[in-house]
Amino acid sequence: MSKIKFEKPFTQQEAIPEDAIAEAVKVMQSGRLHRYNLTPDEDGETNLLEVEYAEYQGSKYCLATTSGGTAMQIALRAVGAKPGDKILTNAFTLAPVPGAIAAVGAEPIFIETTQDLTIDLEDLEAKFKATGAKILLLSHMRGHIAPMEALCEIARTNNAVIIEDCAHTMGAEWNGIKSGNFGVIGCFSTQTYKHMNSGEGGFLTTSDPDLMAKATILSGSYMMYEKQLARPDMSDYAQARYEMPNCSSRMDNLRAAILRPQLKGLDHNIDRWNARYQVLEKAFQNTQGLRVRERPQNEKYVGSSIQFLIPGWPQDKIDQFVKNCSARGVELKWFGNANPVGFTSRYDSWTYAPKQSLEKTIDILMRIMDMRIPLSFTEEDCALIGTIINEEFTALHG
Ligand SMILES: *Cc1c(COP(=O)(O)O)cnc(C)c1O
Repeated sequence: MSKIKFEKPFTQQEAIPEDAIAEAVKVMQSGRLHRYNLTPDEDGETNLLEVEYAEYQGSKYCLATTSGGTAMQIALRAVGAKPGDKILTNAFTLAPVPGAIAAVGAEPIFIETTQDLTIDLEDLEAKFKATGAKILLLSHMRGHIAPMEALCEIARTNNAVIIEDCAHTMGAEWNGIKSGNFGVIGCFSTQTYKHMNSGEGGFLTTSDPDLMAKATILSGSYMMYEKQLARPDMSDYAQARYEMPNCSSRMDNLRAAILRPQLKGLDHNIDRWNARYQVLEKAFQNTQGLRVRERPQNEKYVGSSIQFLIPGWPQDKIDQFVKNCSARGVELKWFGNANPVGFTSRYDSWTYAPKQSLEKTIDILMRIMDMRIPLSFTEEDCALIGTIINEEFTALHG
């Protein structure tokens, strides 16, 4: 008997909502796509989106950008990152994170990864001491949030600032506080594979007027920031307007128009993601030999992807497992490959960073299997995927 297969694509997003499409058409009909191209009585889609996102986030200010990557680059410059600086970041993350550090001419120093897939606080403390670094670009990679009180205390005692990469934690919380509100700046992405979809796009949020003024000038405001609504007082720009270079990274009104209706549906979508996540989680918990992270009570997560750890198998067995799942329509991503494959890459393949060796992280990366959960999958789809993974794993593991 042939085995049951899963037939849907893993990269299919849901359609952009009809009301978002209608708003986008209005912007196109107006011809005023540039965020500062407004009539005197018009607020503008980008300005309104920033107000609404700041409110959602619970931050004072918000700046919409061209991508999550540019938000991080602007954030690093705003807090004063200089060429040659050592900047700490997670070893387990995706390429735009060390890429943002390299973009400002600084050096990424990687921190080890725990079994929970979060940043290793012992190694973080040791590397603050060893390097004297003053900036941590913290990646909440795949939505796993580290114990934030302890982490913030380590940064504080080392006189360092935290910038949070919330590409996978838009809408997530730790002890009732939204991710992105622990550090001085939070960075978000609205790229197609994240929690809202404008193709490309991002946000920078902060409650610090000076950082917001700097970030705005950095994003390329052509000195038209007065029209922005989620901004500090005009007097807060007095120095930034001369000191900060224009690194053109503005969001446009067309993308903002697509995002505003999506923001209204974000919390509902989080519930939908988590329902799917929990179906898969259960299947993995019922698979002898697989380890899935027990999510801490303190965390309100967004299950837009799921990870599990396999045992320390040799490479050929891992390849076989991925191949067997793929033959049944289930696409697993493995983070352990020495060569970058698709969106996964190992920290030691980023050769622009100084050579570093992180044994704990390598051990974890060799065992992580990763799967995005598109909302185009139903809970029944997730149950089938769970069954397939369970069967294929059990067949190899015994
Ligand atoms: C997607 C992503 C980003 C930002 O990506 P952009 O494509 O630049 O919007 C940042 N960090 C992580 C971990 C990501 O996956």
